[in-house]
Amino acid sequence: MSDTKLEDIVSLAKRRGFIYPGSDVYGGLSGTWDYGPLGVALKRNIMQLWWQMFVEDADDMLGVDAAILMNQKVWQASGHVDTFTDPLVECSNCKGRFRADKIDTSKCPTCGKEGTFGEPRQFNMMFKTNIGPVDDENSVSYLRPETAQGIFTNYKNVVDSFYPDVPFGIAQQGKAFRNEISPRDFIFRSREFEQMEIEYFVHPDAWETSFELWVKRVHEWCDALGLPAESVHELEVPESDRAHYSKRTVDFEFDFPIGREELLGLAYRTDFDLMNIQNASGKNMEYRPKDGSAPFVPHVIEPSFGVERAIMAVLTAAYTMDEVNGEKREFLKLPNHLAPIKVAVCPLAKNKPELVAKAREIYAMLKKEFGAVLWVDSGNIGKNYRKMDEIGVPYTVTVDFETLEGETKDTVTVRHRDTTEQERIAITELVEKLA
Ligand code: ATP
Repeated sequence: MSDTKLEDIVSLAKRRGFIYPGSDVYGGLSGTWDYGPLGVALKRNIMQLWWQMFVEDADDMLGVDAAILMNQKVWQASGHVDTFTDPLVECSNCKGRFRADKIDTSKCPTCGKEGTFGEPRQFNMMFKTNIGPVDDENSVSYLRPETAQGIFTNYKNVVDSFYPDVPFGIAQQGKAFRNEISPRDFIFRSREFEQMEIEYFVHPDAWETSFELWVKRVHEWCDALGLPAESVHELEVPESDRAHYSKRTVDFEFDFPIGREELLGLAYRTDFDLMNIQNASGKNMEYRPKDGSAPFVPHVIEPSFGVERAIMAVLTAAYTMDEVNGEKREFLKLPNHLAPIKVAVCPLAKNKPELVAKAREIYAMLKKEFGAVLWVDSGNIGKNYRKMDEIGVPYTVTVDFETLEGETKDTVTVRHRDTTEQERIAITELVEKLA
């Protein structure tokens, strides 16, 4: 387990504008979270990094962005209507509801009474809705509980348009919704969240090689997030715990403040989904190899990444407490490429027009280069540094009187977040040094 306390992360996230409880002003809505100015930047940086690593930099991957609302036949054929359920138990004393597989059902975790739970009943986690003005069974649809089906239903479209060689993958990012029985642990288990999924289509004889390739790629992803290798664990999921369609699943777990829990999953889904679509739609899902060998329905390796859990892991790994000059310091040691703000620029005094003008010039130059640059001219410099540390800004540039004249003319102080060291750098070298 991580030494970091969940409440410290939750409190910093709210105080500093990363993540707020959803519908906060009305008392909240359980299982929903809103991203503030810094949270949305962190989330986008993570999602963009994923897209770059797995789609743009890869030569065996294509991207899609499917609609969230899909024909109900999708969820019937995929098995979600019948089996996307969790076991629900209710305490007869306090009426608390829990997932039977996540608690010790001999004693209620809320009221502490023993023997208050009956037999679990299967609760379907899909949010049901109706499409159009008529509310009948033909208009039923669901908010998608996973992004994967939007990929499978477009498999044939993509093959017809691009005819990629097998193995190839289709990637998608987007919202998913699950009516979790007990959302908990900050963003870890939410009712609305974001997934980044890949369906990697392979020849049935080659799934094992591709599976190993994806184990490696997943570790590269965890590295890119700045997660310490010793906090990431592979869990070979036993057959009894695997989804019915999976012949092999490895869960990648992380040492969260709440304990070792699933960060993302990697599953071999066989031809389960494409065969279901073929049977239910009557459309042929076979792939015809370009070398004229026998057509086949591809099998699938699926790495499924949750954005919220990636964010929670990144915040856990980055959250640091140390002591500077005898004072406690709380800061986020975020990797530079994920930090929501890359550089902060502070004029030492805001009532000196020449100083402010010079600082503005430097701010404009850095903003053009790095985009996410913050102008900070309030409070004293020490307080500013602490604030920047708390939100994970890697560098703070201070423009002072020495910037304006004397031997140090046209140099600034660059203060490093992790070491708190300061160095004098020529303005002309700033962009190169901070890149
Ligand atoms: P769990 O066992 O924790 O409920 P799962 O095995 O049902 O998760 P998958 O269906 O494999 O999860 O979903 C793939 C990924 O989507 C998970 O590894 C996780 O990162 C993310 N995810 C799933 N459910 C949630 C949720 N309720 N809130 C946030 N992320 C989620």
